[in-house]
Amino acid sequence: MADCIFCKIISGKIPCNKVYEDANTLAFLDAAPTSLGHTLVVSKNHYETFDEMKEIDVKSLAITAHKIAKAFKKISEGYNLIQNNKKVAGQVVPHVHFHIVPRKENDGIVWNRQYPKYSKEEMKEIADKISGKIK
Ligand code: 5GP
Ligand code: ZN
Repeated sequence: MADCIFCKIISGKIPCNKVYEDANTLAFLDAAPTSLGHTLVVSKNHYETFDEMKEIDVKSLAITAHKIAKAFKKISEGYNLIQNNKKVAGQVVPHVHFHIVPRKENDGIVWNRQYPKYSKEEMKEIADKISGKIK
């Protein structure tokens, strides 16, 4: 979709900190992370919401989210897997995606979109670290 920000990331028109890519999916760091390592997993085919997806793309997306989750198990104490559909549910980017947010004891996260800022170097380093743990 021409004016979709995630489609632009998928096509390489907008840069991202890539964590994983295969033929049907892409995983990259959220530009405004809730915690360091907050990853978005997207289907390369554009759909607005989860219910609209073809089963084949649901499978690919779930498998990639599972790969990232397994990597997170090695580098974090826990994680949230979140998926928002439509503005009323908090969806800001209308291209279906899972958030995977690493968690640790007493991290103080409240879901208010007021999150810490991380440097470019920290983002690159964590993207490489997650990437390195994906089998
Ligand atoms: P939603 O609220 O739609 O579930 O989440 C959209 C997420 O996309 C937000 O957490 C936001 O920080 C992230 N985001 C928005 N624009 C960009 C972008 O251009 N690049 C990256 N990497 N993340 C983005
Ligand atoms: Zn899109």
